[in-house]
Amino acid sequence: MARGYQGESGDVKALAMKKWFNTNYHYIVPEIEDDTKITLNADKLFHEYFEAKRLGIETKPVVIGAFTMLKLIRYTGKKTAGDFAEAIIRAYQELLAKCNEEQVEWLQFDEPSLVKDLGAEDIELFHRIYDNILSDAGKCRVLLQTYFGDVRDIYADLIRMPFAAIGLDFIEGRQTCELIEKFGFPQDKILFAGLVNGKNIWRNHYEKTLGTVADLKKKGISVVLSTSCSLLHVPYTLKHETKLSQEFTSYFAFAEEKLAELKELGQLADQDNYQESEVYQKNKALFAGERDCHNEEVTKRLSGVIEKDYIRLPKRSERQALQKKELKLPEFPTTTIGSFPQTKDVKANRSAFRRGEISKEEYVAFNKKKIADCVKWQEEIGLDVLVHGEYERNDMVEYFGEALGGFLFTEKAWVQSYGTRCVKPPIIWGDVYRDKPITVEWSVYAQSQTDKIMKGMLTGPVTILNWSFPREDISIKESISQIALAIRDEVLDLEANGIRMIQIDEAALREKLPLRRSDWYDEYLDFAIPAFRLTHSGVKADTQIHTHMCYSEFTDIIPAIDDMDADVITFEASRSDLQILDALRENHFETEVGPGVYDIHSPRVPSVEEMVQALRLMLTKIEPEKLWVNPDCGLKTRGVPETDASLETW
Ligand code: GLN
Ligand code: ZN
Repeated sequence: MARGYQGESGDVKALAMKKWFNTNYHYIVPEIEDDTKITLNADKLFHEYFEAKRLGIETKPVVIGAFTMLKLIRYTGKKTAGDFAEAIIRAYQELLAKCNEEQVEWLQFDEPSLVKDLGAEDIELFHRIYDNILSDAGKCRVLLQTYFGDVRDIYADLIRMPFAAIGLDFIEGRQTCELIEKFGFPQDKILFAGLVNGKNIWRNHYEKTLGTVADLKKKGISVVLSTSCSLLHVPYTLKHETKLSQEFTSYFAFAEEKLAELKELGQLADQDNYQESEVYQKNKALFAGERDCHNEEVTKRLSGVIEKDYIRLPKRSERQALQKKELKLPEFPTTTIGSFPQTKDVKANRSAFRRGEISKEEYVAFNKKKIADCVKWQEEIGLDVLVHGEYERNDMVEYFGEALGGFLFTEKAWVQSYGTRCVKPPIIWGDVYRDKPITVEWSVYAQSQTDKIMKGMLTGPVTILNWSFPREDISIKESISQIALAIRDEVLDLEANGIRMIQIDEAALREKLPLRRSDWYDEYLDFAIPAFRLTHSGVKADTQIHTHMCYSEFTDIIPAIDDMDADVITFEASRSDLQILDALRENHFETEVGPGVYDIHSPRVPSVEEMVQALRLMLTKIEPEKLWVNPDCGLKTRGVPETDASLETW
């Protein structure tokens, strides 16, 4: 289901994959057909529970709650959530009954969907679910856990429902404290207070946290200290970071260290005069001290940015006409998103260089050979716009993080992205700046190998920020703007060195869109989109700017995406239905588009017919002069055989 299948028994596409709320973690979207039967199968859960129990450890099983489950399922037939509610509720009731039978002490239901905007129908559905599940709760105590925001639409209801405990996020939940203040919290329930950030790597500010705990206790609330969300989103441990000095690591807490923090905070919260304890004083001193992270040049430059720096001239329609003439592209130009398979030899070359086993010259020569071969092959199969293949990059964000000032990078701080794929997000430690060109040499070399157009390849400021661990001492807006200026320099250097088409990837722009609609613009788009414009507003009219976004779920923010003012955008469209295209037309989308014609997240090779069919369908909705032909995303995670076969197919 995750990878698709192509073999003797048939040809099946993989299930859709989506980002888990506002994180970079992906989940496989469950599909239910009209005749799907829902029954409980909790073997895995109980095996794990008993495995721990045999070691003398009582654990708290965690399952996704029925409400979030119903919201995230994709219903492929005529039926919808309401039609399956009863069967799903029954399965959860059985689960709880089984927990009672096995004398499980706590069962946790995760309901992150509660932090989104909820309508009357949602609230009704939620009641229906839990009024039933909790009707004979037994001894097993149920924790209703929420995270990634506050539950303002349903808080007043929640506290009246028979949960033994409710988990609230105090980090991303901007209104959490306010809600407790306004509606109170019942004395017969326990509050699992998510006060330690489960998404970022900075140490907890004990003074602040303990202040909040004290406030809660004063209200007579029983508090359990907890992380704001699962620790899936942070790296495992600091223990193996041998290269970062104490000056840096003393500010960080990965998952293991967060557990230690929880323990310390718990102990401190129980002491009347915790202010005097050594642990507390040490933490206080850390935050009181000046962190070496400021760069005056950066501050000065940023304050000099004016309104006009955000506007590219002439206007897009004029540019597009000019570019058609100058770049001499055929109708339906073909291109790829940038990376080619990161084969074993590519990785081996990089790690040999890192370990000092080969010289810089040898490292570069190997990559140049790779680039030359890749360019030659793209020419052979007749692609129109070529790429260099990104062989020099470990990862589209880490690579830039390593090259820019202000970032720190780790050795082993991996975070899961999907399946066995992990990323190692850099840490934004201080003000960000670029002191020398990063990609120019590679792009110029690649261009020298062909007369066709070579697309320069950069990662955009929003994505660099979203896939890094951000600072907490300055605003996200400020950090993004600093990165935008650094990328702007790179864009202008590429142009000055003969690169006429530049793609600035914003793969992660959509994923950090606030979960609540009311926050979309104020809290995000109002600065993220201008930051993107700042990166490319300085180029000439006939330099074509591309952007790429993974996933096409931007139907609701199409005007904002058009406002990035790129000339072309490519995005994922093969795993989702093509509704987005209707929305583009309705919104008079000006940017040229390349909705991916095949899915690169699975090794399956698409057939010619299916791609032709996809393109025909696209043409019913997009003007022919605006349509590009490309895969869904970069090819770095794929193997060579399927990549070659897929690209040759078209
Ligand atoms: N240019 C990048 C690549 O091709 C884009 C990757 C992405 O969108 N995640 O790998
Ligand atoms: Zn992508």
